Amino acid sequence: MVLDSRQREMLRLIWRENRLSRWELHERMGVNPNAIGSEAAQLLELGILREAAPESVGQGRPRVPLEIDTATRDVVGLALSPGQVDVARLTLRGQLLGTPASKPVANPSELLATAKRLLKTVVDDQTLAVGISSPGFLDPEEHAILFSSVTGAPQPFDVNALFDAADGRPILFENDMHALAVRWLLTHQAEQSQDVLLVYVGDGRLGAALLIDGRPNRGCMIGANELGHTRFFVETEKCFCGQVGCLERICSTPFVRSRSAQNGFAANAAGLFERIARYDGQDSALEEMAQFLACGLSNAINFTRPNRLVLVSELTRYPRFNDLLLRSIRAGVLFALVDRVRIDVWDQPGAVSAETAGWLALAGLYQDGWKTL
Ligand SMILES: [Zn+2]
Repeated sequence: MVLDSRQREMLRLIWRENRLSRWELHERMGVNPNAIGSEAAQLLELGILREAAPESVGQGRPRVPLEIDTATRDVVGLALSPGQVDVARLTLRGQLLGTPASKPVANPSELLATAKRLLKTVVDDQTLAVGISSPGFLDPEEHAILFSSVTGAPQPFDVNALFDAADGRPILFENDMHALAVRWLLTHQAEQSQDVLLVYVGDGRLGAALLIDGRPNRGCMIGANELGHTRFFVETEKCFCGQVGCLERICSTPFVRSRSAQNGFAANAAGLFERIARYDGQDSALEEMAQFLACGLSNAINFTRPNRLVLVSELTRYPRFNDLLLRSIRAGVLFALVDRVRIDVWDQPGAVSAETAGWLALAGLYQDGWKTL
């Protein structure tokens, strides 16, 4: 099955407007009704579209709206993370089907066998495509993870076994930040033509993706834009990349704990987000972290001048800290850009998950510029 770009455009319009008749598709796309009819017939046959109850419009034949079929086919997401693999099943509208399953991976040598077993439990005849996400640098052509916290190894890590487990179904193998970015794009009905810099901030985990015209910026190899390994002259724990001072190590519980200790404060056992939740305007370690994070983000804005920065993090739940961070980011952005760049916050639980990996498969259905179904 290979969908052409006209079918993807049809699907994208129906995705956005929920229901459209063949006649409305003809009007919006400027494609003749016969061609629309045959494209629609194929998508109905594949179980991607279905016909909804007819709507009467004045006199004449009632129109039959087409909608995304959420019952016939599904997509599967598999997320590889350090020490863990997760799978989830989603409808073609991105609703979770059942409960995602998870397995621990004690040693990277067990990663493939565990992931393969887990994938086999969810892939069946209904499965249209599989999205596989991993942090780090990937080679989708060779089916390899080149460098990642998941494998911990400096040499390429072959993931062909996962492709075998999908029994010939299309697989979208992408960086986890790209998966998150396309999930944001499809759920926010954003302008496809805008450049979007999406940044995810977790405890000790920071990643970024840049979407240009709704397509991922691929650079010289497939990976997130390595904002997490932007380095500052500050003492941190050693990063898995081999350096110290990485932004990803700064935005972490160990960093704020050690800074509190150095500043002579009583030991603070709270985790990063717990401290952010309690932030009352007086926590110099958190404020120092916010300054480093803002510096990294404002420099990224100055360098890429995106239409939007989308900040995805639990921290955006807490207004006091969130305001401090956003003010500090704006203070570091060039005057010419500051009023033009829109900053959105997105508090998406389970942002890096199998559910998000499943959205990669949906990207292949609805978006151009991704590996297509
Ligand atoms: Zn690093």
